[in-house]
Amino acid sequence: MQDSVAEICPGLWRIRLPFSFELNHVNVHLVRLDDGYLLIDCGIHSEDCFHVLEASLRRLGIAWNQIRVLFITHGHPDHVGLAPRVLELSRARVLIHRVELAHLDTIAHLVENPHSLDHQLRAWGVPADQVDAITHAFTGVRRSFQKLGHAETLEGGELLYTAIGPLETVWTPGHSPGHLCLLASDRRLLISGDHVLPTITPNIAWMPGADPLADYLNSLRRVENLPVDSVLPSHGDPFPGLLSRVRETAAHHDARCGRILEALHNGPRSPFQIAGFLWGNRLSSFQQRFALFEVMAHLVYMENRYRARQVAIDPVSTWSRA
Ligand SMILES: [Zn+2]
Ligand SMILES: [Zn+2]
Repeated sequence: MQDSVAEICPGLWRIRLPFSFELNHVNVHLVRLDDGYLLIDCGIHSEDCFHVLEASLRRLGIAWNQIRVLFITHGHPDHVGLAPRVLELSRARVLIHRVELAHLDTIAHLVENPHSLDHQLRAWGVPADQVDAITHAFTGVRRSFQKLGHAETLEGGELLYTAIGPLETVWTPGHSPGHLCLLASDRRLLISGDHVLPTITPNIAWMPGADPLADYLNSLRRVENLPVDSVLPSHGDPFPGLLSRVRETAAHHDARCGRILEALHNGPRSPFQIAGFLWGNRLSSFQQRFALFEVMAHLVYMENRYRARQVAIDPVSTWSRA
């Protein structure tokens, strides 16, 4: 608890909240305003997380009703899970990208219909017993997705005026379609959400009718030359060298495309077989789902660039080199 709050600079704090899934924490940020505070993301929907957030605010001498604005980088459960509780206590305004707000409705549909993706998993070659396991593994997480009733929507490019200078919203779709970073030019800082992370790369997941990996790589280019000395990520510690991290991250996806082409070396394979080639059978059902959606995002990207093509659809989709 002692270490949960770190002052980044006067008027800006990082609060590290517990997160029980694959990562052990998520960072949220607090910025002083003229008349209160701006909270950037709010952690997962759990008692643990709520208590650490509450204790951290108390330590800073901040009451719930001084939180005037809740800014959401994107709608993943570790970023938005506590929103209903925070909003009930603070009555804060909520800011989120327009596309992300709509995306939360799509996810809400999945929460209400947990088996609606089962046919998709079967079509990707997942054996029936594993389809059930994957769907079950995800039920708990989905409960932490939250609909935001009365949010104000952003497009990117807006300025939020704070005690550390204006924060410019930067739309960075890819990891999530309405992901926003915040650029604090006066402090040469980028609050990067999950867009650029120091030690891991964010999951890029297939979405019907979209090319999220292309969006993501474009969004990396959108931030690579921003005038910043330090990046404040949602997972991990602040780090310098935005441009080199962007290049490493882009290279990671390039390498993954290369590995997928290797998987297709001896003929067509299903996404499930490709995931097996990449990660073996050491994945939990929870990780298996991320792996499949990640493989599919790369296949769609390569299909759009004539590097791979879908050669069968029914009953299982298989892919070959183009
Ligand atoms: Zn995320
Ligand atoms: Zn995250």
